[in-house]
Amino acid sequence: MINPDFAPLDDTYRHRGLRRQLVLELGRKGIADARVLEAIGAVPRHVFFETAFINHAYEDKAFPIGAGQTISQPYTVARQTELLGLPAGAKVLEIGTGSGYQCAVLVQMGYKVFTIEYQPELARRSKRLLQRLGLSPADALQGDGSQGWPTRAPFDGILVTAGAPGVPEALRSQLAPGGKLIIPVGDLQKQEMLRVTRQPGGTFAEERFGGFRFVPLKGTQGWG
Ligand code: SAM
Repeated sequence: MINPDFAPLDDTYRHRGLRRQLVLELGRKGIADARVLEAIGAVPRHVFFETAFINHAYEDKAFPIGAGQTISQPYTVARQTELLGLPAGAKVLEIGTGSGYQCAVLVQMGYKVFTIEYQPELARRSKRLLQRLGLSPADALQGDGSQGWPTRAPFDGILVTAGAPGVPEALRSQLAPGGKLIIPVGDLQKQEMLRVTRQPGGTFAEERFGGFRFVPLKGTQGWG
């Protein structure tokens, strides 16, 4: 069950101060893209939290959001966004809307965002919240994102926020030329962050960016 008791939308002086501290912490941890740090500094993370956890909203940690899912750690959100490295206006597919926080950061970056969430309650709640914040994606879908969104393809970037057993072929094929897929791949305990880039001529280059831990990607190209 999703707790309907969510934080109010006000963004107080205290929240803004905590957010500035978080931005400095992410900089110290190696996030170097100023546009990403600016977006993290602009989006109020606390409004994506259940009230029970609100005092922890500006800690660099993942937290439960209901339905057995989590809001990703800010470092992970910043790192995945940084790895996309796309100019404003790029078309980006996010798989795993969850709380909506990563989507809000992508919209704040100036991307045209499409987002898919598997869990109906989370899909409904994040859609409403993003509308209220004025940070709505171009479109949002409830369903299995492990197959991408063929009718909206191609994408300049695809960002997967759940751990996959492998790189789904459907996602590779929905990349535009030069497009980048950021996806954690591994077993259920630990994954490695991969960046798959579609090269001119249609081949794919793969780079690796260290270990992370995500909830499992469900669906036909995920863990089922
Ligand atoms: N981006 C989210 C945020 O900012 O809160 C992170 C949420 S959580 C780490 C990963 C999300 O992926 C969960 O909400 C989960 O339900 C969703 N998910 C898992 N498998 C999925 C699939 N096949 N299609 C779409 N969403 C999926």
